[in-house]
Amino acid sequence: MHEMSIAQNLLEIISQEMAKNGMTTLHTVKIKYGRMASVVPEALETAFMAVTIKTDLEGAVLELEEIPVTLECSDCGHEFTPDEDEILLHPCPQCGQDFGHTVKTGRELYIEYIEAE
Ligand SMILES: [Zn+2]
Repeated sequence: MHEMSIAQNLLEIISQEMAKNGMTTLHTVKIKYGRMASVVPEALETAFMAVTIKTDLEGAVLELEEIPVTLECSDCGHEFTPDEDEILLHPCPQCGQDFGHTVKTGRELYIEYIEAE
């Protein structure tokens, strides 16, 4: 399960960060993920809860924020956000080129911040 390994990774990163700062209780984790990162937020929340049970991180709130997809036109360099579900074939609003665009944002998955003490 994809989300399970993501949750496992998050747990490791957060634990290291907390240990480094002498923190023992985790309150909130803010995660940002791209629309193209194939993350199902509900599944990630469930997975995170599962991996944190009986750890110092148990009971922490996972906040998830989606990052929209931004494409850069392969022809004119114009940056735009395509409509949902039309990510691979979407005409550039400026010149009409409809494929070969570079994905600028939308594939990210990272921890924006953690709140712990
Ligand atoms: Zn264009």
